[in-house]
Amino acid sequence: MTFETLGLAPALLRALSEQNYTTPTPIQAQAIPLALAGHDLLGGAQTGTGKTAAFGLPLINRLAKQTSANGFRRPRALILVPTRELAVQVTDNLRGYAKHLRMNISAIFGGAGMGPQVEMFRRGVDVLVATPGRLIDHLERGTAKLDSVEILVLDEADRMLDMGFLPAMKRILGKLPRDRQTMMFSATFEAQLKQLAVEFMREPKQVQV
Ligand code: AMP
Repeated sequence: MTFETLGLAPALLRALSEQNYTTPTPIQAQAIPLALAGHDLLGGAQTGTGKTAAFGLPLINRLAKQTSANGFRRPRALILVPTRELAVQVTDNLRGYAKHLRMNISAIFGGAGMGPQVEMFRRGVDVLVATPGRLIDHLERGTAKLDSVEILVLDEADRMLDMGFLPAMKRILGKLPRDRQTMMFSATFEAQLKQLAVEFMREPKQVQV
């Protein structure tokens, strides 16, 4: 199996080969075709399995294919992550995949100044990587607008629950357009996560490694 056979855009394939990604990992081989077809996805995967590319590649592919309906460059994809470290890592990875595309990928997280993050929203962002608490701060200030989000990813969802982010996640989910694609990745799926999936996802396909 190769990335070519998964149906990704040439600009992505070029970036992957430059980064010496030759063969999709099992989670990528399973998730990418389903995500490209527009399905909601529940992915059971730990870190180190290649899960970032499993959601990142179809996400970038989809945004690159369809031009934005909003001229203001509000986020079209939102990726919620539990920690600042993961936010930075996911942002770096996605920027690497999108290097041949014109796409702004930026992160917001707690413990950093609000000023530069407010400025980032003012300039425009296509893909927003965020920790839930800091995103709530921006929603309350009116700096973040989520009405253009077409794709939502919950990365390491179990860790977000462990960190007490469930109320923040629910508040954020309630502000997103209903017509969107949702992908949830988690090492485990306890009852609260399953309930979240039932409430906020549409007939999700399950992939597991
Ligand atoms: P992740 O589980 O998303 O944190 O990825 C773990 C590491 O594997 C990261 O350093 C990725 O850049 C790398 N990686 C992911 N998918 C592939 C692949 N198909 N080929 C080579 N390296 C990969």
